[in-house]
Amino acid sequence: MSQGSFLVIGGGIVGLATAYKITERHPGARVTVLEKESGVGRHQTGHNSGVLHCGLYYKPGSEKARLAVTGIREMIRFCEENGILHEVCGKLVVAATPEELPRLRDLHERGRKNGLEGLRMLGPEEMREIEPHAGGVAALRVPQEGIVDYQKVCETLVSKIVAAGGSVVTNARVRRLRRASASWVAHTTAGDFEAVFFINCAGLHCDRVSELAGVTRPIRIVPFRGEYYKIRPERQYLVRNLIYPVPDPKFPFLGVHFTRLIHGGIEAGPNAVLAFAREGYRKTDVNLRDLFDALTYGGLWRFLARYPAMCWQELRRSFSRELFCRSLQALVPEIQPEDLAPGGSGVRAQAMWPSGETVQDFHFVDQPNALHVLNAPTPGATASLAIGEEIVRRRAAGWRLLAIQAHNSWRCSKPAAPPFTASMLT
Ligand SMILES: Cc1cc2nc3c(=O)[nH]c(=O)nc-3n(C[C@H](O)[C@H](O)[C@H](O)COP(=O)(O)OP(=O)(O)OC[C@H]3O[C@@H](n4cnc5c(N)ncnc54)[C@H](O)[C@@H]3O)c2cc1C
Repeated sequence: MSQGSFLVIGGGIVGLATAYKITERHPGARVTVLEKESGVGRHQTGHNSGVLHCGLYYKPGSEKARLAVTGIREMIRFCEENGILHEVCGKLVVAATPEELPRLRDLHERGRKNGLEGLRMLGPEEMREIEPHAGGVAALRVPQEGIVDYQKVCETLVSKIVAAGGSVVTNARVRRLRRASASWVAHTTAGDFEAVFFINCAGLHCDRVSELAGVTRPIRIVPFRGEYYKIRPERQYLVRNLIYPVPDPKFPFLGVHFTRLIHGGIEAGPNAVLAFAREGYRKTDVNLRDLFDALTYGGLWRFLARYPAMCWQELRRSFSRELFCRSLQALVPEIQPEDLAPGGSGVRAQAMWPSGETVQDFHFVDQPNALHVLNAPTPGATASLAIGEEIVRRRAAGWRLLAIQAHNSWRCSKPAAPPFTASMLT
């Protein structure tokens, strides 16, 4: 084990971006990413909508707002520098009815407070110049949003981590975490790994990994599956770029929308259905441990009691292409059920408080020489480089102190200890 060594648990985009930022900020630090699958980006990162979100929706001053606004710029720069396919095509948020107009105006105001430039309210005619088949009474034009290939971003991050001397170990499921005198030891299916610091970026399993490190789990990950349809090729002319609804502020998800994909094609979705397995990509997937975990969590029951109609509606829409299509018709009235072919799905790692409220902001929990990312849903992929930067820059100050304390206590018991080199953490 070397001084200033780091373990990052989870090879999704947040873990990889964090590892990359460590190698950038602290050249010479030893960084190891531990990923349980045989490749990186196999869960949320590999099943998302591929949208670059600019921070429109999030409460001013929140971590989400701050990190999405800086994150999208950084992600676009990263893509430009590394030749990763992306396109800043802009999006429309469409008010389907006059009742939605106040919420659309609030969204406009919120975006301005978050520092977004170029937002513009459009009437029906201007809106249809941009999206000729959009319905609704008005729209907010968001020019800075776009689409990207997040899988390629992950592959590029891996090459950069490796080029900087780090490693990404796949098929390495972390089963146990142990605190040694001045380090952490991760026992994995690929052997044991030891480092001074570790960062938990385990996505759908982040609460369980935090528990392995002795953190109690007041908040719990509740999996919400998002299902997509693909628009049949002969009807793809109905959507040019990105068409979103005005979101319901009570709910953490954005509502089903239309997305142009960076490699071609148009997707519609995702919905948000409670899943019976954290990695349950099909309706029939059930994992007994995950189910037990969810059903024994009071927070989930309180959530169900708080939003029974919404949960029921999501479930019905999941089983009915007609109902799904009806939601889409609010945005593009010409779309018909027969235009929709089954698409893929993704599962969101949504953290929930015991009160039944979903955790709205990104959520980080510190521990001596460790940090847990316990809520990084949308716009987590867009913001991943900014999240990594945040972890490395801001948290490292606290770790430095803790590392020095740990080293000093270690020196007390081992007089011949080598000097602690904290320079890589400054
Ligand atoms: C349906 C859907 C649509 C979305 N759309 C967008 C979008 O358009 N734009 C956007 O910015 N964001 C979007 N998001 C959110 C975005 O995908 C996530 O914020 C982001 O991918 C989170 O990355 P992550 O690395 O935290 O998690 P993940 O990608 O889930 O990675 C976590 C990794 O940890 C590994 N792991 C777990 N447990 C262990 C263990 N014990 N040992 C070792 N490894 C472990 C997993 O195998 C996994 O690879 C969407 C998400 C979903 C689900």
